[in-house]
Amino acid sequence: MPIATVNPATGETLRTYEAMGEEETERRLQLAEATFRTYRTTSFEERARLLHRAADLLEEDRDRVAEVMTTEMGKPIGQARAEAAKCAKAMRWYADHAADLLADEEPDPSDVKDSGASRVLVRYRPLGPVLAVMPWNFPLWQVVRFAAPALMAGNVGLLKHASNVPQTALYLEDLFHRAGFPEGCFQTLLIGSAAVDDVLRDERVRAATLTGSEPAGRAVAATAGEMIKKTVLELGGSDPFVVMPSADLDRAAEVAVTARVQNTGQSCIAAKRFIVHTDVYDAFAERFTRGMRALTSGDPMDEDTDVGPLASEQGRKDLAELVDDAVRSGARVLCGGELPDGPGWYYPPTVLAGITRDMRIHREEAFGPVATLYRAADLDEAVLIANDSPFGLSSNVWTRDEAEIGRFVRDLEAGGVFVNGMTASHPALPFGGVKRSGYGRELSGHGIREFCNITTVWHG
Ligand code: NDP
Repeated sequence: MPIATVNPATGETLRTYEAMGEEETERRLQLAEATFRTYRTTSFEERARLLHRAADLLEEDRDRVAEVMTTEMGKPIGQARAEAAKCAKAMRWYADHAADLLADEEPDPSDVKDSGASRVLVRYRPLGPVLAVMPWNFPLWQVVRFAAPALMAGNVGLLKHASNVPQTALYLEDLFHRAGFPEGCFQTLLIGSAAVDDVLRDERVRAATLTGSEPAGRAVAATAGEMIKKTVLELGGSDPFVVMPSADLDRAAEVAVTARVQNTGQSCIAAKRFIVHTDVYDAFAERFTRGMRALTSGDPMDEDTDVGPLASEQGRKDLAELVDDAVRSGARVLCGGELPDGPGWYYPPTVLAGITRDMRIHREEAFGPVATLYRAADLDEAVLIANDSPFGLSSNVWTRDEAEIGRFVRDLEAGGVFVNGMTASHPALPFGGVKRSGYGRELSGHGIREFCNITTVWHG
């Protein structure tokens, strides 16, 4: 894939970049290692000062960087601005909390008395340069979610961003540089995916995090496994959104629309499979379809646009194939489902009913504004359908019945259960999945500790 900015709203190539060669990559690896040697000894106060400064700059740059994101990957401009603001908030959260999250721990002396210790403590030390392989869908947020905790922990970052968001990738390097982080603390490697393997094998790179597709995750994890390096993987999702009879149906249908089409449906934590109890199925389906039909699709730079183009031509082709496969196997199209004419990689908000297990869309991630509806006879069947997926990122359940909530929290195979609401990430809450959605956690204390050397310090 060429490293280029191609506007998804028009299909026009606006700017191409030459990939960094081996020499430049080597220079950056050397710099990362050299910087880490001193940066690792800086205080939390100093790191927090720099990260707050980065947040200030990002807030000042909000409108400009939002336009860059929308131009590169097509998200509606209001959502791009919100993404920039969310990143600044996460930076501040880690700046304010990292010292506490990584404070030395002293086990209870009575627990370790028989180890012969007079005193024991556990210290969270940084690991070194961490490679971040990141996707285009939230081109700022996915990176900041890694960078803010990594930098606060004393690690340094090497970013291999998706090839279609090079300007956002370069902006991020520039942002941390302007904030005053030492040169080499956060560098962008403008390289294609084929060059990732060599970087990952390099001894100076101590760990890797990847957000993206399953094949990309598998490739990075395989090499990291061979090299015995820690990885965190945040891969796809096909999150269930379960609606039970006691739910507030109007609210559930309204939130369902947002949960499905946020970021033009290109979100790992978007609700994708809508599993509705038979008693309220028709009422929910009618409200939800009405909401999906009422969305405004169009130019992502237009403030009134709800749904923009998909980020790439390939992404639209993949999505259209999933829908066509389902329709050929008997799915009913309640709205959408037809490719529009004209330039840009638009795909209409679509609702499919009558989904069966043999359809690809039942097992694969629909990365665009396409919802699938399922009818469940009771709670047991709802849980069965929800768990009948290779993915296990998050889940949404709508019910006012405490016993039902208890069952969902106990039985859903996912890294999150959001009750009467939609899944959203927050700096203080752990984020990540099970099954083929990946492993490890981002955000919160769990996220910052993923890339730490958890060191036992034992005194005789
Ligand atoms: P990819 O997984 O291919 O891209 C994500 C990142 O991984 C990019 O930086 C990419 O680089 C890199 N990458 C790709 N292949 C490899 C590899 N073999 N070794 C190392 N790095 C690699 O996502 P796509 O853009 O192709 O999207 C395909 C599908 O993936 C989507 O339809 C969706 O289902 C899923 N996806 C999920 C995301 C999530 O948030 N969980 C985000 C994006 C996609 P390069 O751009 O240079 O190829």
